[in-house]
Amino acid sequence: MTATSQAAANQDFVGARVVDPTLRLDAVRTVVVRRGVVAALLDGPPSAADPQAERVDCAGMVLCPGFIDPHVHLRDPGDPHKETLASGLAAAAAGGFTAVAAMPNTRPALDSSESVERLRHDAAALGGVRCYPIGAITLDREGTRIAPLRSMAAAGAVAFSDDGATTKSLKALYNAARYASDLPQRFFSHCEDDSFQDGLMHEGEISDRLGVPGSPSIAEAAIAARDLLVAQVSGKAWHLCHVSAAQTLDVLRAARSWGVDATAEVTAHHLQCTDEMLAGFNARYRVNPPLRSSSDTAAMRRAVADGTITVFASDHAPHAESEKEPPFSQACVGFSGLEVAIGATFNALGDVPLAVMVANFSSNVAALLGVSGGTLAPGSPADITGLRLNRAWSVNPAVFASKGKVTPFEGMTFAVKPALTVVGGRVLMHDQDGDARTERFATSSARGAS
Ligand SMILES: [Zn+2]
Repeated sequence: MTATSQAAANQDFVGARVVDPTLRLDAVRTVVVRRGVVAALLDGPPSAADPQAERVDCAGMVLCPGFIDPHVHLRDPGDPHKETLASGLAAAAAGGFTAVAAMPNTRPALDSSESVERLRHDAAALGGVRCYPIGAITLDREGTRIAPLRSMAAAGAVAFSDDGATTKSLKALYNAARYASDLPQRFFSHCEDDSFQDGLMHEGEISDRLGVPGSPSIAEAAIAARDLLVAQVSGKAWHLCHVSAAQTLDVLRAARSWGVDATAEVTAHHLQCTDEMLAGFNARYRVNPPLRSSSDTAAMRRAVADGTITVFASDHAPHAESEKEPPFSQACVGFSGLEVAIGATFNALGDVPLAVMVANFSSNVAALLGVSGGTLAPGSPADITGLRLNRAWSVNPAVFASKGKVTPFEGMTFAVKPALTVVGGRVLMHDQDGDARTERFATSSARGAS
């Protein structure tokens, strides 16, 4: 286990299988990094060894363009007991992500150029994982008054969303989309109709049996239809966050057939966890949108396989342990995701080709957010994610760098393990023996907190 910290070092990452969908590359290569940039991908070891260059042994690893998580909640500012920028970005590094996009539902909300600028500045000062702000569509995300989208875009917002909730007013959403239709930043929809706010879980057989109010699939699909109609009339490029219901996929496919430019993401939990997990009133597994039926999770997996869904997201939503306790109706909604997302997503999608998995974690996300990265082509920033494809590991939330220790994957064993995180040539995480997970997380955490 090492975690080196020299800035923009010269390194040769040797011995790995390199998978880069943008280059149609799947072969053993040496990734030559000079001053934080990929200088070359060599077929074999470096011919003229640079005595200044550090040799990083990556035998047994798959190196990919750095994985980018387009949907995380960093709780900063406002709720440092749940997460801070430092702990959240440390969790990202530990989980194998080189960049994240931060949702605006902080307190106060990310709804001004000043707050967008501050987040970028504070994240850059930590010197680790890259952090891209997503600005709110409406002021304080209250759903009616349009936020200053243009000045937020100029300040570096990579997308706009009222995530955490649906943008309440159709009129506000419609006007915002028309006003910002020429900006490249997509609108990201959290699809959940307000009138089902009292729903504590997916409405179905299990909620009926428990006798608790549910939120049915149509609560998501109807808002997806509303928002994609706005996309159609405004010409705005759109993105559906955390799709969970099979019916929403029908809406998405229909909208594309009308010519709407719409993408969609799915989380590791909506690919495989079902409402059965709440059958014992288990408050820990409450999340929005809720865990749905096994036919919905199967539909999500098929949608990845057939290319309807092209982006993976963690929806990392950490809470303090006490906030996830019963009673069922009062537990905070959402759970930690950054440190399980890669293993869990691969676990759900064993039949999907590796190049597609890598694209959905990297190049497709870079394109979605309009950010650099997503490729190891020479000249690109040296943002690299390394994986071990057959290194069984068990999820132990106690060692998470995130302050959020609740995950529906606790105790599960996954085959694919993130083993290397490199950002701009800086090695933030390097799990050399595959068994040093605890130490690895501790080191990442300490680094992030510095
Ligand atoms: Zn959301």
